Amino acid sequence: MFSWFWGRGASRRAVAKVAAAIDETLWQQHIAALPFLRGLTNQELATLRQHCAWFLASKSFHGAHGLQVDDGMALTIALQACLPILHLGTAWYEGWSGIVVYPEVFITHERMQDEAGLVHQNDEPTLGLAIDGGPVLLSWPQSQPGQGAMNLVIHEFAHKLDMAHGEADGMPHLGGTGIAPERWRGTLEQAWRRLARAIELLESAMPDEALAEADAPSWPGYPPYPPQVQALYDGLPLDPYAASDEAEFFAVSSETFFVDPLRLRQWQPQWYALLAAFYRQDPAARLGSGSE
Ligand SMILES: [Zn+2]
Repeated sequence: MFSWFWGRGASRRAVAKVAAAIDETLWQQHIAALPFLRGLTNQELATLRQHCAWFLASKSFHGAHGLQVDDGMALTIALQACLPILHLGTAWYEGWSGIVVYPEVFITHERMQDEAGLVHQNDEPTLGLAIDGGPVLLSWPQSQPGQGAMNLVIHEFAHKLDMAHGEADGMPHLGGTGIAPERWRGTLEQAWRRLARAIELLESAMPDEALAEADAPSWPGYPPYPPQVQALYDGLPLDPYAASDEAEFFAVSSETFFVDPLRLRQWQPQWYALLAAFYRQDPAARLGSGSE
């Protein structure tokens, strides 16, 4: 009968207990290890800490294949997951509780039925997965700081935001932002098409054998492209994986928005502005010209 409480998250008391237990040295070390947190005000850092406490108290972490998830690992994941909801609030992450952390790339089995009714099973090497209404799965090596402009944790939690109100289609709930859904959709599609054209141009200039060697990525930058392909893709404003569909475009854009915002703002200022309005944050202003 109390089913509506399910997934709401931990009680205020439990959150306060976790907040008080976060070790100050561990907190400072983890903030310093994530350069894209630079420029947050003291007030924002205090809010981030509250959100992290809610996250740690509300989500259950499971290590897969014998991996032990310690406090530092959980905090690293919580910090990155809570940055996008800094000004949105923790209610966006209600309704599910599990976070499964894998020691490395893991295999997911996707069953698909083709038009003839035959069922195929795809075994996909996967770095991360956000399941609608279910857990978030993460490969630990890619969840740690030092991944350049990519951010697995932000990517998966952007999918969660997208899924929080309906299917993952690249358009999260826009209530309170003043953005008309048509404007969001139109701006996203314009940016998406521009990226697709840039990729096409690059690929038409690539030697056939280089392209043949490059497997279709199942994740931004994974499997790794051959070096000459990667060198060309490095000139793109977003990882080419963003061109997969609208949901991936939003997730990859969200990674870049938080981790390498100046690049995104310079490439497509209107799309950047909509993301800033949705997230109620302006990381490019915060990180300034010294951003890496
Ligand atoms: Zn994705």
